[in-house]
Amino acid sequence: MRCEICGKEAKLKRALVEGVEMMVCQDCTRYGIVLPEKKQQGTLAAAAKLKKKPLPYSKDVFEEMKQELVPDWGRKIKEARERKGMSREELGAKVGEKTTTIAKIENEELRPPDETVKKIEKVLEIKLFQEIENAVVKHKEVRPLTLGDLLKNAK
Ligand SMILES: [Zn+2]
Repeated sequence: MRCEICGKEAKLKRALVEGVEMMVCQDCTRYGIVLPEKKQQGTLAAAAKLKKKPLPYSKDVFEEMKQELVPDWGRKIKEARERKGMSREELGAKVGEKTTTIAKIENEELRPPDETVKKIEKVLEIKLFQEIENAVVKHKEVRPLTLGDLLKNAK
């Protein structure tokens, strides 16, 4: 058998080259991913999945822009909780935090993790994260690294 890439007569390996399954020689396996003879289907599926997976970049940026909490978030939580006739204990139980933690959050002694903030938002039906537009303005000063910066950092 001849290698499907260089045409050399050699012992061939099954490899995935740019998403195409090919029989290639040892030298040419570097152009792709060598597929093991067994569990071939799984590897192909995994490779396809890997290829299709979108870059998480844009989502991360989006998430980061949502990090800012509204001003007076502690008071807003307290007021919303009282409006609902809920005790700190009840709110804590709903969002999986201790009563003392809820007290600290309401006094803004503790900035709850985003996950907890989202739960509180849901339970109390309030908005605690700032609107994205505001966050964008706030983040505008952060510019991406330029080539110049990279060269500087490299020194
Ligand atoms: Zn080859």
